[in-house]
Amino acid sequence: MEDLENLIKLQQLDSNILSLKQRLESIPLEIRKIDSFSQEIEKKYEEEKKKLTNLEKRKRDKERDIQDINEKIKKLKERTPQIKTNKEYQALLKEIQTVEEELRKEEENLLIILYELDDTRKKLDEVKANLEKRKEELENEKKNLEEEISNTKKRIELLKEERKEIVKKIPHELYEEYIDLMKKHKGIAVVQVKDSVCQGCFLHIPPQLYVEVKLDQSIYHCPQCGRILYYKKQQQPVQVSSE
Ligand SMILES: [Zn+2]
Repeated sequence: MEDLENLIKLQQLDSNILSLKQRLESIPLEIRKIDSFSQEIEKKYEEEKKKLTNLEKRKRDKERDIQDINEKIKKLKERTPQIKTNKEYQALLKEIQTVEEELRKEEENLLIILYELDDTRKKLDEVKANLEKRKEELENEKKNLEEEISNTKKRIELLKEERKEIVKKIPHELYEEYIDLMKKHKGIAVVQVKDSVCQGCFLHIPPQLYVEVKLDQSIYHCPQCGRILYYKKQQQPVQVSSE
C-alpha cells in the first residue's frame, strides 16, 4: 500500500526533524557552558597573575627596607670620628652590630621572596601555556557548534521540503489522523510490529491482526495505543533518502 509507505516515510522524516530540532535547542546551552568555562580559565589566570604582582611588590618593599637599613648603618659609621670616649665607641659599635643583624635578616627574607618569585613566574608561564591551549580548544569547540547550528538548520529545511512532497501524496484525512496521533504520542504515530509486538506501546497484538499487518493491504491500528502499524519485511527495508 502506497499510503502506508508514504506514512512510514513521513514518520521517519518527522522523527529526523524532531531530533534535529532537539539537537538545535541543546547547542546554545553547550555554547554558554563553553563561554563560562573560558571565563573561569581567564579568572584563574588573573588570580595567578595577582599572586605574582603581590610578590613583586613585596620584593620592592623589602629592597627599600634594606636600602634604609644600609643608609642607617652608613650614618652610624659616619658618627665614628666624633666619638670621644671608649664607652661611647662601644655603644656605637653595638648599635651598628644590631642594625647589621637586622640587615642580614632582611637580606635572608629578600632571598626567600626571590625564590618564591622565581617559582611563581615559572608556574605562571606553565599555567598560561595550558590555559591558552585550553582556550583555543574551547574556541574550536564553539566554532564547531556554531557550524553545527547552521548545518542543522539547513538540513531541517531540506527535510521539510521533502516532507511537503510526501504530504501531497497522502490523502487529507489520513494525514489529519497522522497529525492527531503525532500529538497524542509525542511525535511517534507510525510504528513497526516486530514479532507480534507493537513497538509503540509493546502490546502483543492479536494473531489475526498480525497476519493482516503483514499482508500490507490496508491501514491498521494498534488496538491499545491506536498508532498506525507496519510490518518491516526483512528483504526490503523501507528506504528513506533525503537526496
Ligand atoms: Zn501500540
